[in-house]
Amino acid sequence: MTNGPRVGLGIDTHRLEPGRPCRLAGVEIDSTVGPVGHSDGDAILHAVCDAVLGAIGEDDLGTLFSNQDPSNDQRDSADFCAEALRRVHAAGCVVLSLDVVVELEYPKLAPHRTAMRHSLAKLFDLTVDRVNVKGKTAEGIGAIGRGEALRATAVALLGP
Ligand code: MG
Repeated sequence: MTNGPRVGLGIDTHRLEPGRPCRLAGVEIDSTVGPVGHSDGDAILHAVCDAVLGAIGEDDLGTLFSNQDPSNDQRDSADFCAEALRRVHAAGCVVLSLDVVVELEYPKLAPHRTAMRHSLAKLFDLTVDRVNVKGKTAEGIGAIGRGEALRATAVALLGP
């Protein structure tokens, strides 16, 4: 693989339902709603994995870890991160920075942003100053605005 910086983009949307556990960026959040998913539904980790995998030209997360495979049922998304990082290193790269925007009405992310940054930094072997997570509301517009879903968008910068 040739040297030089690489950028990847990942987007993931999950429905939100009452009574589901809510784990985002690997952080347990006390919430009346949580993401629905075949795995643990951690949309932030899924978006970041797709960004990281995209930067090294790998298949997307859904191809690597099929939702048709029972072994991925309720799976901890940290496992996906470990595999994504393993592939990054196998490609002769490291993750240099991550930036994430999460669109959702609730739960509010602000009290959890610091924990999320630390969690992502640990999962992708970065210092915390190279990771950011921001929450945005959708101003009441569409499914996200009605609180029926959340969407995470992640950008990853990789280097040799
Ligand atoms: Mg997902």
